[in-house]
Amino acid sequence: MKYYSFITLLALVSVLGCNSGSDSVAAGDSEEAPAAFSRFDASVDIVQEGQIIIIESSGVPNHPSPYWPTTSSLYKAYDGSNTAFNLNPNQIATQQYTFRIPASPAEASTKSATPLGPIGVALNGVAIFNQYAGPNQPLTNEIDSFDQYNGHPQNSGAYHYHVEPLYITDLVGKDGLIGYLLDGFPLYGPKDGSETVTNNDLDTYHGHVHVTTEYPDGIYHYHVTSEDPYINGNGFYGNAGTVSQ
Ligand SMILES: [Zn+2]
Ligand SMILES: [Zn+2]
Repeated sequence: MKYYSFITLLALVSVLGCNSGSDSVAAGDSEEAPAAFSRFDASVDIVQEGQIIIIESSGVPNHPSPYWPTTSSLYKAYDGSNTAFNLNPNQIATQQYTFRIPASPAEASTKSATPLGPIGVALNGVAIFNQYAGPNQPLTNEIDSFDQYNGHPQNSGAYHYHVEPLYITDLVGKDGLIGYLLDGFPLYGPKDGSETVTNNDLDTYHGHVHVTTEYPDGIYHYHVTSEDPYINGNGFYGNAGTVSQ
């Protein structure tokens, strides 16, 4: 009898499992995003609906920072190399980002400037910001508040990177994929293979075209470099998607 009950229980569990699987497919008409998107951290939810890739994240870093509350297990005092480091008064807070980016990005006939706030998303779900601290204000003063992984939170606690996200490039390599901008074009680290990329290697939008590990047919892609404008230059190369928060 006991054995029979166990089998019944197993059958019930597997039926329930199947049901929840087919429910989630029916709910969204969504499909799995292209393989490159599997590089995102498991905490980031990604689906493709038609020609749009939908990326949902809480925007918080998966790495230590002095901007976590001191009670957090991820709190870590600044231990980077900037002797002028200056903790800003903000703390990391959970966001509700939904990025919608083109699944088949293409060059825009009219380029648009990047906005303040999120212009893209890194593989850990953290927002990528542009090269300005405010309207046409350079990052000069903000740089000293970047933590040991090159991020910091703004006044509502939204943590973000304006420059190379060091935790990610340590993980994926200096020539690895580190995220996407809103126009659907990928962002790579500061190297192509073993060669350091400089602003001179890139167009005014801060990208160029060649084959990458994730895109063997070649693709336009941005690179982060060690000098201003760091991630993006004169705006999006493609037509930007949207982000809601
Ligand atoms: Zn900032
Ligand atoms: Zn490249």
